[in-house]
Amino acid sequence: MTQIADGLARVRARIRAAEEQYGRPEGSVELLAVSKTKPAAAVREALAAGQTAFGENYVQDARDKQEALGPGDARWHFIGPLQSNKTKLVAPHFDWVHSVEREKIARRLSEQRPSNLPPLNVCIQVNVSDESSKSGLQPAAVPTLAHAVADLPNLHLRGLMCIPAPAEDFDAQRAPFRQLRELQEQLVREGLRLDTLSMGMSVDLEAAIAEGSTMVRVGTDIFGARD
Ligand SMILES: *Cc1c(COP(=O)(O)O)cnc(C)c1O
Repeated sequence: MTQIADGLARVRARIRAAEEQYGRPEGSVELLAVSKTKPAAAVREALAAGQTAFGENYVQDARDKQEALGPGDARWHFIGPLQSNKTKLVAPHFDWVHSVEREKIARRLSEQRPSNLPPLNVCIQVNVSDESSKSGLQPAAVPTLAHAVADLPNLHLRGLMCIPAPAEDFDAQRAPFRQLRELQEQLVREGLRLDTLSMGMSVDLEAAIAEGSTMVRVGTDIFGARD
């Protein structure tokens, strides 16, 4: 087995174990392999090991890999900070954007999504740690944006995403994930049809799965440390 195939197998086993431990149905948590800064060859290895969903933070880095790989099974998720001058590259070349936090960006993505493609799947990034250094929308502002995004024709609002601040222990890791789940539940009560909680990374995926994550975003434990 290659190192990447080995990393994927280990992360999949962790996801399965956490699903079982926290009473989640088997297969209810999807793995997004975060390939940011890694070469196209690394993505190719992961594809050969059956991984199809890839997360990228930098538009040009991702486009280079997409060009190198050509059409195929890979599904691309944009998970990094998104400036308005980059939306026209993201809208046609990704399947998902996890990091929407402004209506202006959402409008541009909807306007720039080619009409021959299905709607772009979108999550709203929420600042659950209340740290000024971390991006994401304040929880109180999320409902207004969520309803606005849900009304845009070429976007499909799927759910919420967060990147909590590092936490000391398992219970502390769970707290922000619980907050994101409760916010999602509130939006569902308000009539939005959401099915995605994008939460959990290499260090805290078990805590995220315990709190209802449906998609964990894992880079380091699959591809190794980034420079
Ligand atoms: C880099 C990154 C990840 C993956 O982090 P690891 O610690 O390498 O697993 C997940 N989500 C986002 C938004 C990231 O930028």
